Amino acid sequence: MFKPTDELLQYIEQGQDILVMSHIAPDGDAVGSLLGMGALLKWLDKNYVLALQDPVPEQFRYLPGHEQVTSNPIGDFDLVIGLDASDPERFGRLFQLYEEEFPSIPLVVIDHHITNTYFGTVNWVEPNAVATAELIFDLSEVLGAPKTEELALPLLNGLVTDTLCFRTPNVVPRTLEIAASLMNAGASLSLVTENALNMKPFSMVKLWAETLPTATMVGKIIYAEIPYHVVEKYGGKDNYNSGGLVNFLAAVKEAAVAVVFTERGPQVVDASIRSRPGVDVSKAAFELGGGGHPQAAGCTIRAPLPEVKEKVIGTLLRHLKEQGIE
Ligand code: 5GP
Ligand code: MN
Repeated sequence: MFKPTDELLQYIEQGQDILVMSHIAPDGDAVGSLLGMGALLKWLDKNYVLALQDPVPEQFRYLPGHEQVTSNPIGDFDLVIGLDASDPERFGRLFQLYEEEFPSIPLVVIDHHITNTYFGTVNWVEPNAVATAELIFDLSEVLGAPKTEELALPLLNGLVTDTLCFRTPNVVPRTLEIAASLMNAGASLSLVTENALNMKPFSMVKLWAETLPTATMVGKIIYAEIPYHVVEKYGGKDNYNSGGLVNFLAAVKEAAVAVVFTERGPQVVDASIRSRPGVDVSKAAFELGGGGHPQAAGCTIRAPLPEVKEKVIGTLLRHLKEQGIE
């Protein structure tokens, strides 16, 4: 079990009006740990606001309480909690707001990215945790909070999405014990897998159909690209992770690394990177101004798509060579 420091517990104990936020283009762990933290703060009888710069993606709108999440937090806060973000830029506009409106308020960072830059007043960073939701679970244990379904379902959502349903190499027996505990609290595993992992809109099939022909191999790297006009055509802006396309490509036998380049806006390109177990892509992503985990990382680069492709692939090839993979 991962243990929060006494200092962190003290901040939470003393906070009365708390702003909780997570990262842009939110994934299942961002939304899950945010809602889980909300349930915990509700039990602690705190005033709190849950915030994300971007809307909750459709596949997570089955989670009760997602309606509480705002992109425009207003309040007289005395504590800010930042979840699942390895650097301040990951909060997008919300971090600018924090810096402008309440820079003197303590910031508690809870995260599991190995690339975390320790930017908070206190930082609870556990790279061996499979999800930030796992840390919220451990926090709930330390606080002695009851395991309600309201707490359990979003946490299971975070655990399942960040581990691709317990299939990533960082999954250990305790991960399954936590999942069992969450299920005992009333969280349905099939409800989570069906909504968060399996179900996709038809537009996603069309997006894949248009994107898969771009799949290219350079050495042991497989990549595909989604230019802005395709993103726009299929409403992909709201489908931040393109339905797990990068995971699909990462399953290609000949590849050690998979990348999906998505042009989010004119000259704003997002690279979503995955690697085979044993191959590290977090350092390359960090060097490119992003971050992540050894097997799942990413970065956002402001430049034309061809330029970004060249830069990212060049960097990855060099990092692969350093790891003896060519
Ligand atoms: P995904 O490919 O699912 O968007 O992201 C994979 C992992 O890389 C996640 O843990 C995510 O937090 C991290 N990541 C993705 N994009 C960025 C980025 O632009 N900056 C940073 N710091 N991390 C990123
Ligand atoms: Mn996470």
